[in-house]
Amino acid sequence: MKETSNETFSDMQPVAKQQITEQIFRNNFYFDRELPENLRFLDRLAWNFFWSWRPEGINIWRELDPYLWDKTEQNPRLLLKQVCEFRLWQKANDANYVEKTNHFANEFENYLSQPANCFGKITTQNPVAYFCAEYGVHNSLPNYSGGLGILAGDHLKSASDKNVPLVAVGLLYRFGYFRQKIAHNGWQQERYFDSFVNELALQPVLDEMGERILVMIHMRGREVFAQAWLAQIGRISLYLLDTNISQNAEIDQLVTGHLYGGDAETRVVQEKILGIGGVRLLKKLGIEPTVYHLNEGHSAFLTLELAREFLEANENTNFSDAVSSVREKCVFTTHTPVSAGNDTFSPDLIAACFDENFINALKISKDELFALGRTNVDDKEEWFGMTPLALRMTRSTNGVSEKHGEVSRTLWLKMFPEKTSADEVPITHITNGVHASTWIAPAFQTLYEKHIGANWAEVLEDKTAWRKAIEKIPDAAVWNTHRLLKQLLIAFVRQKTFSKEIGSHDTINEHRDTRKLFDADVLTVGFARRVAGYKRWNLLFNDLERLLKMVNDAEKPVQFVFAGKAHPQDIPGKEILQNLMSVDQNSEWQRRAVFVEDYDQEVARYLTQGVDVWLNVPRRPLEASGTSGQKAAMNGGLNLSILDGWWIEGFNGENGFSIGTLSNELTDEEADINDAESLYQILETEVIPAYYLKGENDLPGEWIRRMKNALATLTPQFSSDRMVKDYIEKIYL
Ligand SMILES: *Cc1c(COP(=O)(O)O)cnc(C)c1O
Repeated sequence: MKETSNETFSDMQPVAKQQITEQIFRNNFYFDRELPENLRFLDRLAWNFFWSWRPEGINIWRELDPYLWDKTEQNPRLLLKQVCEFRLWQKANDANYVEKTNHFANEFENYLSQPANCFGKITTQNPVAYFCAEYGVHNSLPNYSGGLGILAGDHLKSASDKNVPLVAVGLLYRFGYFRQKIAHNGWQQERYFDSFVNELALQPVLDEMGERILVMIHMRGREVFAQAWLAQIGRISLYLLDTNISQNAEIDQLVTGHLYGGDAETRVVQEKILGIGGVRLLKKLGIEPTVYHLNEGHSAFLTLELAREFLEANENTNFSDAVSSVREKCVFTTHTPVSAGNDTFSPDLIAACFDENFINALKISKDELFALGRTNVDDKEEWFGMTPLALRMTRSTNGVSEKHGEVSRTLWLKMFPEKTSADEVPITHITNGVHASTWIAPAFQTLYEKHIGANWAEVLEDKTAWRKAIEKIPDAAVWNTHRLLKQLLIAFVRQKTFSKEIGSHDTINEHRDTRKLFDADVLTVGFARRVAGYKRWNLLFNDLERLLKMVNDAEKPVQFVFAGKAHPQDIPGKEILQNLMSVDQNSEWQRRAVFVEDYDQEVARYLTQGVDVWLNVPRRPLEASGTSGQKAAMNGGLNLSILDGWWIEGFNGENGFSIGTLSNELTDEEADINDAESLYQILETEVIPAYYLKGENDLPGEWIRRMKNALATLTPQFSSDRMVKDYIEKIYL
C-alpha cells in the first residue's frame, strides 16, 4: 500500500485523487520476479492466506527478511517483490530454511487436496454462500474496520479447517478504512491508503475465455459494472466486488472506495452491489448455493434479487410465492442491539436507487417494496430498514450471544404483531467465537504441542479432554509462556512509541525515552476497542485520583495499554481520546500508560496475547457479543468485564472477574456510577492482590490457577470452530 493522502484526501475530487494515485503507481511499480528454483513455492504460498494462521507459515516470511516483513506490514506479495536479490539467494542456500519451506509446502498441498465434507444438503455443488460487508482475514488484506470483519474472517478460517463447502462474497474497498495517527495535541487524524490490487493476494476472476467476469447493477438511471477478485482463505474462496473499472463513470468507480465512509446514497449503492451484484456473480460462476447467510443486514438486498430470479424462472407465480422460496434459502445474523445501529434509508433514496424495471419484475408496487423495509408496514413515513427486510425475507434470524438473542427478541417484537410476548419472537442465538490458531500466540501453540500433542486443536473439540490436558501443564510452564508474551508486548509498545517525533505538547502517546516504558513485573491491563459511547472509555477515569493511586503505588502498581479508533465524524469520541492522552503529566502515568495508534489485527494480537488483564466496560446490554476478550482468554489473559455479551456465558467465578451486577433497574447515570465504583473496588481488592500474591517458587499460584481455568474453560467454548459447527447444525441445516 502506498500512502496517497493527508487528512484532506477524502475531501478531494475523484479526479484529483485519481491523478495522485496514478502518479504514485508509476513511481512504485515492481515487476514480478523469478524466484530461485528451490524457493519457487513461496510464490504459490503467497496467494493463499493459509500461512496466516500457521506459526510456521508466518515464520517463513519473517525469516526471509525480518526488517522488510514489518516494513511491508506483513504482506507476502510485497515482500516477494521487494526482497533484494542477495537476500533471496542467501535463503536459497540456507538448507535449514529450504527444508522448513518444503515441509510447510507439503502441509499446505495436503491441506488443499482434501475433498470437502458434506453436511446434509450442503455440498460442493450446493455450498453455503456467506455475505458480509467487511472481512478481516489478515492485515495484508485491509478490508475491514473492526469486530464484524474479524468475525467474518474467523468464520471463513474455521469453515476452511472444518472443510465446509462455503463460498464468501464481499466488497473490495480501494481505500479501505482509515489509518489513525494521534497529533501532538492528542487529536486523532485520519489517513487513507490506496491498496493496489497488484500488491494484494487477490486474483482477477475470469471466465473460460480469460475475460474478466463483470456483473451489472442498475442504479440511478445508469448501469454500474463491478469486477470480481478472488482471495483464497485456505480451502475457501472469498469473492470481492469492486467498481473501480474504466467502464464506469468516475463517480461510480468510487462506489466501493471507502468502507463505511460515504453518505447514505453510497451506502445503498454499495449494498446493492454486495447483495444484488453478489447473487449475479455466483450465478455467473455457476455456483448454486443451498443457503445464503446474511451476516448483518448490509447484504439483505440479495433477497430481492433471489425473488426476481424466482419470478423470472416461474411463470404464473406472484411475489408471495417468491418470498416463500427465498425464505427457504436465506438465514440472517443480526449484530446490533439498538434500533439506531441498524441501517435505514429514506423512501426517496430507495426510490431513486431502484429502477422501475426491477420493481416491476418483482410484481409489486413501489409502496409494497418500501413496506418490506418497515417495522410497521402501514406507516408510510417509516424509513427503509435493512434489518426488517432481512427479518421478513429469511427463514432464520439469530443474535450473537444468548443475551443478545433476548435483547433482539424484544427489539423486534414490533415486527411480529401476532406475538404477545418477546419470548415468542423467532430469533435465536449463536454465540460468537474466535479462530484459535489465528489468535493463540505461537508460544502457547508450542506449549500445547509439547504437553498435549501435535493434535492439540483436535483435543480442543472435547471440552472435558481439553480441561484435563490444560490442568496437567505445569504452572511454571504456563507462567513462563505468558511472561514471554508480555515481554514481547512491552517491546512492541516501546517500538511503536519510539519513532514519534517530539512536539510541543507531551501526551502519553509521545515518550522521549521509551526504554523506561512499562515493566514486565507490573500488572498490565489492556483496553482496546472502538471509541463509541456505549463502550464507556470514560468509566476508568471517573475518579482520576483513585486511578492514579493504583498506578503510582510503590509496591503493587498497575500499567495500562490502550488502543482504538474513533469514527472520523465522531467529535465527542475524539475528545475522549484527547483527554486520555493528556491525563496528569507529572505522575507515573506517563510511563505506565501507553496508547498504541492504529488499532488493527496486528495490534490486537500483541495486546490480547501479552496483557495480564483484559478490561471491558460496555453499557449493558449493548455489547452484542464482543470477541477481543475471547482472544485474551485463549492466551491466559483474565477478563475483567461487565457481565454483558459473551462474558455472561463465559464467566464462571474462577476464570476472570466480573464488574457490576446483572440488574436492569438502573438509569444510565446510576449504572455508570455503580459500575465505576465496582471496577475500582474489584481492581483494588481482588485483581491487584491476587496478581502480586507470590507462593511456591515465587510464582503467583492463585493467579495461575485462574489463568489455567480461563484457558481450560473458555478456549473450547468460544472458538469459531464451535461457532461454525453451531451454524451448520442449528441454522444452515
Ligand atoms: C477482535 C477485534 C475487534 C472486536 O473486538 P471487540 O471485543 O468487539 O471490541 C475489533 N477490532 C480488532 C482489530 C480486533 O482484532
